[in-house]
Amino acid sequence: MGVSANFKGLTEDKMPHDLPKAYDPTAIEDQWAGYWVRENLFAVPTPDPAVQSPAGGEPFTILLPPPNVTGRLHMGHMLNQTEMDILTRWRRMSGRLALWVPGTDHAGIATQMMVERQLTEEGTSRQKLGREAFVERVWAWKRHYGGAILEQMKRLGVSVDWSREYFTMDERLSIAVREAFVRLYAQGLIYRGAYIVNWCPRCQTAISDLEVVHQEQKGHLWEIRYPVLGDGGKETGEFITVATTRPETMLGDTAVAIHPEDERYLHLHGKKLRLPLMDREIPIVVDPWVSREFGTGAVKVTPAHDPNDFAIGERHHLPSINVMDDRAHINENGGPYQGLDRYVARKKIVADLEAQGLLGAIKDYTNNVGHCDRCKTVVEPRLSTQWFIKIQPLAEKAIAAVKPDANGNKAIRFTPENYEKIYLNWMEDIHDWCISRQLWWGHRIPAWHCGACHKITVPQPGATGDPATCGHCGSVEITQETDVLDTWFSSGLLPVSVFGWPNITPETRADFDAFYPTSLLVTGFDILFFWVARMIMLGCWFSADIPMPDGSSRGLLDAVPFREVYIHALVRDANREKMSKTKGNVIDPIEIVKQYGTDAVRFTLASMASPGTDIAFNVARTEGYRAFANKIWNAARFIFMNIQRAKESGIVVDPQRIPEPLALVNDGSAPDERWIASRLSATTSTVSKYLEEYRFDLAASAIYQFFWGDFCDWYLEIVKLRVDFATPEKRSETQTLLETLISVFEAALRLLSPFMPFLTEELWHALYEDNPPLNSIAMSRFPSHGGEFLFYDAVWMIVVLQGFVTEVRALRKALAVPENEWVRIQFYPNPEGGGGTWGELVNRPFLYKSLTRVSEIEFVQSPLTGANARSTPQFDVAVVYEKKIDVAAERERLTKDIARYEKGLAAAERQLGNEGFLAKAPAHVVEGLKKQEAETRLLLEKAKAALEALPKE
Ligand SMILES: [Zn+2]
Ligand SMILES: [Zn+2]
Repeated sequence: MGVSANFKGLTEDKMPHDLPKAYDPTAIEDQWAGYWVRENLFAVPTPDPAVQSPAGGEPFTILLPPPNVTGRLHMGHMLNQTEMDILTRWRRMSGRLALWVPGTDHAGIATQMMVERQLTEEGTSRQKLGREAFVERVWAWKRHYGGAILEQMKRLGVSVDWSREYFTMDERLSIAVREAFVRLYAQGLIYRGAYIVNWCPRCQTAISDLEVVHQEQKGHLWEIRYPVLGDGGKETGEFITVATTRPETMLGDTAVAIHPEDERYLHLHGKKLRLPLMDREIPIVVDPWVSREFGTGAVKVTPAHDPNDFAIGERHHLPSINVMDDRAHINENGGPYQGLDRYVARKKIVADLEAQGLLGAIKDYTNNVGHCDRCKTVVEPRLSTQWFIKIQPLAEKAIAAVKPDANGNKAIRFTPENYEKIYLNWMEDIHDWCISRQLWWGHRIPAWHCGACHKITVPQPGATGDPATCGHCGSVEITQETDVLDTWFSSGLLPVSVFGWPNITPETRADFDAFYPTSLLVTGFDILFFWVARMIMLGCWFSADIPMPDGSSRGLLDAVPFREVYIHALVRDANREKMSKTKGNVIDPIEIVKQYGTDAVRFTLASMASPGTDIAFNVARTEGYRAFANKIWNAARFIFMNIQRAKESGIVVDPQRIPEPLALVNDGSAPDERWIASRLSATTSTVSKYLEEYRFDLAASAIYQFFWGDFCDWYLEIVKLRVDFATPEKRSETQTLLETLISVFEAALRLLSPFMPFLTEELWHALYEDNPPLNSIAMSRFPSHGGEFLFYDAVWMIVVLQGFVTEVRALRKALAVPENEWVRIQFYPNPEGGGGTWGELVNRPFLYKSLTRVSEIEFVQSPLTGANARSTPQFDVAVVYEKKIDVAAERERLTKDIARYEKGLAAAERQLGNEGFLAKAPAHVVEGLKKQEAETRLLLEKAKAALEALPKE
């Protein structure tokens, strides 16, 4: 029964195969996108372990890099998803069980910011609401607006399994996050520590180094003079001058450091200073870290506000005085400056120092200032207590997973390969990972502080429910940690958690056994460290304990979260500029899709995507690929029209009963049938090869050339000339002809389907009159192929004949033969070229005569030269036409040809004269080169003779 007839809701009678005259992507894409989702077409249920996996071998599993729940689709997503969809559709059509898992990330900072902004507009704040009500409010926001990006993905038709859609705050995934934390804690790999973090005063949370963007900024270097104290704490009248870009931090200074061998300060070792404005005595410490060459050679030490100073403070047991609150206002430790914003305090401090005569020079200074990646606020390095993962044992495994083992095998392979090195360099220099964030939206850390003994209670691994009493003293006075976990902690667990971890029991482990490790990760470089590295660390760590399905222990090869990583490039604008809101050159993929259709946009991206190359997105190309889709649409209309004509002539051509091209075409078939079957086979083979290598560009180009060049421009033109319903004999020939045509067209649709899923779905259903053998072309098989050299004699024959048609058409143009005029030609088959291929010209002259408007072919016995002739290595051809040719143009052409032949000949001679080359090159290469040399020599002679034969001016 018709699968799509119902959903299209057609009530009027529809002619079989009836397609609207014009290709209108918007008219078809919405319907198919909805159909794929409604039919749950790409759902992969949990496999039954009792049933052996299908013949396709290991499943193809891929995770969508989860977009933020607040996100909107941008061109980077579109490229990422186009690549994943092409690969997943192709693997699925190649017989693998293909599972693509979608989901969204709760995006702690971004989501909290978005909801806080709403609250501000309403005149309230999260603080006024309180934590519980705020979190409820975020959930309400998520239910209403969250995941809009997934709706956009549905419209784009990505072949994901929507039944497995996750959200990183789902209960199931939250259990995994909690279990990961408590296990790492039990293993002694999580600790709390005071640490200098990048603090964002706007987001009011610590952010990781990776979330800080450094920008050069013009500022000042203020010199401040600290009075030296002598015996009894009296000022000696001497000063030490320090320099700083952040004068307000001096409020928290607890020392000044000098180099131990700095001769300028040798006499001050062991002395103290008076910290201006705060009237605090601080020591002078000696530390070899201090650079004698920079500034005055003396540095103020603020352990609570600078990572280097923090290290000096640790070495010299200095107190750390935090002088700022969460909003970067001066706190109670800042004396008279308490309550001032950091920049207001800075001005006042500089003025006060100046008034006291303690301000030295103010110099212009350009430095790199860290900004919050989310809100662009200047981050404040600030001491705070955070939660950390002791990263080393995890990093070791993550390094081993990417480095080749003793046999040269890598558990994870990167494409492009250079990312392996970038990854390893980073991983080898990794610091402990600060996993706490001072947010309300996220996974709250499962640790409880005791009000009585001040110790921390973390539940045991596997325990459910929250503790009611302190695990150390039994007090009930315990409160949960207020910090939440870094968003990347939960997304780093996805490869294990989406397949059921930590609940892996004999009854629940089927998904994990079937789909872990995943096959491939496709992502951008920007999250290589944030996400890819963390998935590798956490995946290897937590899956290592899970035995293999056969009970054996899991080695690193099977503990990794994915076997391959493909890092895709950036999409830039047509001028190769990075897209940015400030530049106003952002291309909205949804807008482009509305204009040209999803298929054309996908094809544009694919046609430019190759490893390591950025894409300069140009709508002119998209327009071109829309025209490509249109060309295929018209080809379909032509085919359907002929099926109808056949029917009217009493011939039954039933697409349901037509086998694959390779089963239909054989050595006895006509040359053009063998040729097109061969071209299809070769294209399929190369497309598969290129997709294995992530050469989307070459794969797209091969399909384009096949469909537009071979199929539409040549094969359909030949078919048009051969279709004939006049006599019973002709009708029978036409039936075979149409059956091959339909068979090849149907296979070509399957070849194109991963790249243009909508167009091919529509035409495929139309071909089968809405009663296709499967409910989607996406569920059919990728065309089979017989390699690149199938029916090679026929290919050669048609290639030579294409050369013939091309040359005659060019000659007609050069001779200015009116388009409608039929001409006579002379033809000289070179006995050394072409051999045997001329049968076609002799046997079916009508084809080639029609394609060139040739009324008569005269075979001649000697080479043809002269202005009306052209030469190829296989033949000479001359158009007999009395009109004068453009001698000047012809002379120019021949002169150019001669130069080209001479150059080619010289190059070939040089190579053939190179003994080193001859010694190393394989015999067939040398043979080929010799043949090429002989051919070029022949062409050169002919061109020279032709030039000679031109009438003199
Ligand atoms: Zn921020
Ligand atoms: Zn306690």
